[in-house]
Amino acid sequence: MPSCVNVDKCDGCKGKDKTACQYICPNDLMKLDRNLMKAWNQEPEACWECYSCVKICPQSAIEVRAYADIVPLGGSVVPLRGSDSIMWTVKFRNGKLKRFKFPIRTTAEGSIKPYEGMPEPGDIKDQLLFTETGKTLPKL
Ligand code: SF4
Ligand code: SF4
Repeated sequence: MPSCVNVDKCDGCKGKDKTACQYICPNDLMKLDRNLMKAWNQEPEACWECYSCVKICPQSAIEVRAYADIVPLGGSVVPLRGSDSIMWTVKFRNGKLKRFKFPIRTTAEGSIKPYEGMPEPGDIKDQLLFTETGKTLPKL
């Protein structure tokens, strides 16, 4: 189920340099129309369905919807973000609704340092990953 922006809720992240959904998407799929201040997924068929944009959107404006050819009667997953949790409203194709609530990470966007404490990257031709230690394999 790819992401889909509800334009009634999206505020374009109030015109920041980069929107939260653009910042988080690992596949660079999210685009912002600066005239309308609305975002959209430029290539839903390339969406990894990782839900990162859905979870980070401060306006709960991004839903995920089933592909029409797989679930022609519809189905959706709509988030509602709180300060410490996220509520998922899941609508099944028969109209049944279920809600699930989970705690969320509360660190500020962009504050994570993923390489903190890791060794410095070394020789690019070394076949070991930079986090691996041990005997170096012969270079190609
Ligand atoms: S993160 Fe949400 S509010 Fe911000 S631009 Fe994307 S869809 Fe719109
Ligand atoms: S669900 Fe993941 S891959 Fe798809 S648009 Fe959102 S962040 Fe990008």
